Amino acid sequence: MKAELFGLKGKVAIVTGGNGGIGLGMARGLADAGADIAVVGRNEEKSKAAVADIKARSVKAIAVATDVTDKEAVGRMVEHVRSELGRIDILVNNAGINIRKPPHALELEEWSSVIDTNLTSAFLCSKAVHPAMKAAGGGKVINIGSMMSIFGASFAPAYAASKGGIVQFTRACACAWAADNIQANAILPGWIDTDLTKRARSEIDGLHNKVLARTPAARWGAIDDFAGIAVFLASPASDFVTGTAIPIDGGFSVMG
Ligand code: NDP
Repeated sequence: MKAELFGLKGKVAIVTGGNGGIGLGMARGLADAGADIAVVGRNEEKSKAAVADIKARSVKAIAVATDVTDKEAVGRMVEHVRSELGRIDILVNNAGINIRKPPHALELEEWSSVIDTNLTSAFLCSKAVHPAMKAAGGGKVINIGSMMSIFGASFAPAYAASKGGIVQFTRACACAWAADNIQANAILPGWIDTDLTKRARSEIDGLHNKVLARTPAARWGAIDDFAGIAVFLASPASDFVTGTAIPIDGGFSVMG
């Protein structure tokens, strides 16, 4: 196997929500493979800490404070990354939120805020990087779905709609941009130990043990479990892989 198959030296990756959780796990993996990283998030303190963590891996890293639901801000962010890091090869659409309520209790503003953050942001960021990727002769878009891309849940109407939608959006981009040598794929995380699920564990009775019982790997996922799949989907190793959605879930989605 050629070493450069998984190599990302000289590449530049934007990771939305890269200042913590799964996004930071992927950013670390991409940096360890040699990519320079732009960390995109709203919390500047968290982003500063993530940049220090990534720089310690001997690559360039910058933080770009951006609300990914804001079209103008996304445009400015992409221009800033191009001018600071020189190019854009990889986009990880990872920023996400959840509001846990059944459909009859969810307000329109709550629905919109989940859809905007989890789905519309991926459209805005992907559209904004497309010219740079096309001009560079190719690129990689990695979108983050969920087990809710596959399953329903009474407490996640907007979240499940956004995560189902992101898989279909991924397929559309894969078809539209194959001619530009841009591959678009989705990752579907199982239950991963992050700030997002810490709240879920306190809100949903018995969740911790239910996840353990349903997961063949018999553990919650860790953020570093996402380094390998991020490198695979960002590197030449996946040049003939596009439009797919890969569960990273310790077997949760295949448990009968
Ligand atoms: P975290 O809450 O740890 O991270 C979410 C990230 O999204 C933060 O870095 C946050 O940064 C960023 N973010 C949220 N809203 C915005 C916004 N408007 N603009 C810019 N950045 C934003 O969650 P996870 O790491 O758990 O989640 C990451 C992704 O993985 C999400 O898409 C989530 O749905 C998905 N996922 C997670 C699972 C899990 O078990 N943890 C399971 C399945 C999917 P900041 O606050 O600085 O803006």
